Amino acid sequence: MIPKLMGAVRLNAPNNLEYCQVPVKEPDEYEVLCKVESVSICGTDPHIINGEYPGFWPKEFPLIPGHEWAGTIVKLGNKAYELGWSVGDRVCGISHKGCGYCPMCLKGRYNLCLNFGKEELGHRQYGHISQGAYAEYMATSIKSIAKIPDDMDFNVAACMDPFSIALHVVMRSRIEPGDSVLINGSGAQGLMAILCARSMGAGTIVVSGSGSRLGAAEKFGAIPIDYHKEDVVARIKEMTHGLGVQRVIECSGTEAGIRNSCEVVAKGGCISIVSLPKSDVQIPIRKIVLDEIDLVGNRANPNTITKAISLAGQYKKELKSMITHEFPLEQYEEALRVFTNREQNSLKVVMKP
Ligand SMILES: [Zn+2]
Ligand SMILES: [Zn+2]
Repeated sequence: MIPKLMGAVRLNAPNNLEYCQVPVKEPDEYEVLCKVESVSICGTDPHIINGEYPGFWPKEFPLIPGHEWAGTIVKLGNKAYELGWSVGDRVCGISHKGCGYCPMCLKGRYNLCLNFGKEELGHRQYGHISQGAYAEYMATSIKSIAKIPDDMDFNVAACMDPFSIALHVVMRSRIEPGDSVLINGSGAQGLMAILCARSMGAGTIVVSGSGSRLGAAEKFGAIPIDYHKEDVVARIKEMTHGLGVQRVIECSGTEAGIRNSCEVVAKGGCISIVSLPKSDVQIPIRKIVLDEIDLVGNRANPNTITKAISLAGQYKKELKSMITHEFPLEQYEEALRVFTNREQNSLKVVMKP
């Protein structure tokens, strides 16, 4: 039996989270209602909770955050059924759902939907603008879910959203077999980018980061550089005989990381950026032009979730090792604290509704 009310963590105002009972939404024709089994905390979540994107994420309060989730379909609309979904399907979610009609959506670039934020036109961004998955149940469009294999556990499945973002970023850097790659940042995106770069045949992969996460980067097959202890640019130049790396994956979001990217990228290379710095950063545009550097921005994970799920089968051990903590949803305060303060070497923190 599906209850009428469910437990959810609701954001009532900036920094005002509350575990409360809210109505369970009825899925519309093209939606499914899922029992949320795992929801992972995204690096963006604390910023949304702190109210750092006023009027944008969320557009209005209250909001149930959470977009990295996995669960089981418990109810579905008629069209969802006719399109091949069933009660009992194990699925994971992504945050974006385009309007489906604008030129960007028609090109498959629904992450750039021209009707962004217009729920009345069918656009959704779950956990950012639309109700998310910090809850026992999640109603979502079938455009924003993918089936997961029987042997993928829900905690790993909840990380398929960030993993598919890493895949998008790395694919857009157009790594060719044997290319040298620098990944800036050894957080979840950086570590996942190592796995994606490996899958595309990267040669040497170097990761610039710090702390225990660098150890994980090394285990995943990258050469670690601790930017607290070493000059990243000098070290890369030395490793590449002054030529620089062919691909840079920028996941640090720091001014230094972005400037370093521009300095160490080889002629004809590419910098693929997923991090969102707090403010604009000055970059050496003359070098970008004269060296024909491709500078690529990336937003979310258009059309990469099923590829990511399939790729995850090759990296089960690595992905599982990234999930360091698990809490019941009611203990969201502790979970968020452990995640935000990186307590006990936390990386991916999962909550279980
Ligand atoms: Zn996320
Ligand atoms: Zn659209």
